[in-house]
Amino acid sequence: MNYKDLAELIFPESKDIEYYENKYPKRDLPEGAIVTRVAPSPTGFVHIGGLYQGLVAQKLAKQTDGVFFLRIEDTDQKREVENGIEGIIKSFNEFEISIDEGMTSKTEWKGEYGPYKQSMRKEIYQAYAKYLLEQGKAYPCFCTQEELDQMREKQEVAKIRPGYYGVWAKCRTITVEEAYKKIQEGEKYVIRFKSQGREDKKIKHKDAIKGNVDFPENDQDIVIIKSDGLPTYHFAHVIDDHLMRTTHVIRGDEWLSSVPLHLQLFYELGFKAPKYAHIAPIMKNDNGNKRKLSKRKDPEAAVSYYKEQGIPADAVKEYLLNIANSSFENWRRANKDKDIEEFDLQLNKMSVSGALFDMIKLLDVSKIVISKYTAEKVYEEAVKWGAEYDQKLFKMLQNKEYSLKVLGIERGNKKPRKDIAKWSDVKENIEYMYDDVFFANKQNYEFQVINDKKDINKILDLYINKYYNENDDKQMWFDKIKDLAEEMGYAREVKEFKANPEAYKAHVGDVSTVLRIALTGRANTPDMYEIMAVLGKDSIIKRFRSIIQ
Ligand code: GLU
Repeated sequence: MNYKDLAELIFPESKDIEYYENKYPKRDLPEGAIVTRVAPSPTGFVHIGGLYQGLVAQKLAKQTDGVFFLRIEDTDQKREVENGIEGIIKSFNEFEISIDEGMTSKTEWKGEYGPYKQSMRKEIYQAYAKYLLEQGKAYPCFCTQEELDQMREKQEVAKIRPGYYGVWAKCRTITVEEAYKKIQEGEKYVIRFKSQGREDKKIKHKDAIKGNVDFPENDQDIVIIKSDGLPTYHFAHVIDDHLMRTTHVIRGDEWLSSVPLHLQLFYELGFKAPKYAHIAPIMKNDNGNKRKLSKRKDPEAAVSYYKEQGIPADAVKEYLLNIANSSFENWRRANKDKDIEEFDLQLNKMSVSGALFDMIKLLDVSKIVISKYTAEKVYEEAVKWGAEYDQKLFKMLQNKEYSLKVLGIERGNKKPRKDIAKWSDVKENIEYMYDDVFFANKQNYEFQVINDKKDINKILDLYINKYYNENDDKQMWFDKIKDLAEEMGYAREVKEFKANPEAYKAHVGDVSTVLRIALTGRANTPDMYEIMAVLGKDSIIKRFRSIIQ
């Protein structure tokens, strides 16, 4: 009896690995093309860090005319959550991180290297486990959980490195005959990898992000196939990234310490190992302490947060590139109108220790991104967001023609308005432009330099009865405000006022402020000329009269 007999007993149905090697041939791609992937597990909400990794991977594939795919890693079926897979697919769709290959629904995929969901690839992993068993590079292990716990305890007490290795790897020395018999008798088992590594020897790894890192060799006989017949992450990673012809494994740096094991698996299977790039997690400044963005503590850790707040996907992606490569900021400054697609992302420029996530900065980026949108686009997005999250906003925007004018104020010019960071800002920013909302809200007119009721009434009265003409151009419009100032004894020009402050009560700017506050209830607004043009004569008169009474 030999290894082959044992392998045959364990996996009688498995195909020869040649079958898979031929089915998933080397990809025919140009030199330097990066084939990479994002490989989330459907175990909870989609974390912004996962999206970040996906964005980086997708961008590198695209930049090099390579391939980017989405693989679902669902081998830990106990931890799988309902709609986990759908949630992942939805997030990547919403953020327009498009995949060339991978799962498109829970059961369907696109691409020639599928299925791209690990639970659908059981037979593939088993074929390769059989291949290792046949060569004596893997073996069945019959240790019970209890035995493993006892072993761990002993190791702890003796302060020995924990794990299943060397003399602790009890089942490693079981003879083929014995193992065969146990299996025939129905004993439960897992398949372990028989490590040839030695802890006192070092391996050198050159990571595309972390640079040179040395590790001790792996000597742990890790489980490759669990008792449910499914692989562990380690084994599935190696088989999948080999068969999917991945050139670069871009993943979270919690896996960095597994590199020795993974390289060893690639080697023992006779595969060429891919390059690795380990991304540090996104960090947050918590009262001066840098810590990982946490699923539990930080709402912004969930990808869904951005949609709920109405922060556009473009802005989130733009911000993530900002933290991915510090050179992005300069690039953006020099290329204000270019699409982020044109930015050349570099793995070796990524932060080794973890980029800091700053919500304020993200919102600033978002303001700039939205400032470049057309009124039409802002309108569509705000309506879509309002329909889902804010009925008041949705109703307010019913009159499309008027709303486009409102949203078009100070937009489409060289210095567009930058007061919207998220769709949830829109209502507050423009609601005063709608008569029904404006009059329904109680206005708290806080007049400033000029706040004498009589003076205010007079300014408003003179303005609507003498100086306002809806056909005036901007120059004429402002000249008339100056005339009004002069008529009331205020300085026509700020300069004049500054040169001779005793001679005047106030200046033309203060008169404008009265008009602005009377018109909008606010001291800060976009351009008042444009606001008046959109509001129109009737609304202006109505607003001023409501104050004069
Ligand atoms: N499923 C693994 C995770 O979610 C993926 C790691 C990898 O990209 O290989 O961490």
